[in-house]
Amino acid sequence: MKQEEIPCIGVSQCLTGEPVRYDGLHKLNHHVVHDLGQYFRLCPFCPEVGAGMGVPRPPIHLVYGRQSYRAVIIENPEIDVTDAILEYSQRVSKDIDGLCGYVFKSRSPSCGLDDTPVYAVNKQIQQYTSGLFCDYLQKLYPDMPFTDETKLANKVVRNGFIKRVYKFFYDKKR
Ligand code: SF4
Repeated sequence: MKQEEIPCIGVSQCLTGEPVRYDGLHKLNHHVVHDLGQYFRLCPFCPEVGAGMGVPRPPIHLVYGRQSYRAVIIENPEIDVTDAILEYSQRVSKDIDGLCGYVFKSRSPSCGLDDTPVYAVNKQIQQYTSGLFCDYLQKLYPDMPFTDETKLANKVVRNGFIKRVYKFFYDKKR
């Protein structure tokens, strides 16, 4: 099969086994690499590395401030990296345009899909939302199939995601 006949999906880079996490480790996910990798080309993105935060880097989390969710360094909350992550999101949106789906890393302040904790000043979880990069893509591509590593552990969800991606791929070609 020609490369252009295989849909391309975005993937949080740490799920492919690349050591891009804040602690210098990865989160290799076999469902992503082996199960989805049979059907799709995988295009990895790491918004925190792309935002220039380096590896290793101090861990960040989400808080609510200035009427929006902000990503700040946990041990030094006056350092706000929101704008750097959003600038990266904007920069790669042209590449995302060619994708037919995306698999996100759960609970990440950048990549989480609806399950990222937002912390209050007392470090208690206030609510859950999407990470900044994921939220940006959800708003830009409301119809693109999105899922995350946790949901993909379920075979029915996994097969449903594969079908949704192919439908999106063929609809796009029309
Ligand atoms: S969750 Fe997202 S930002 Fe964090 S290491 Fe993985 S790809 Fe990078």
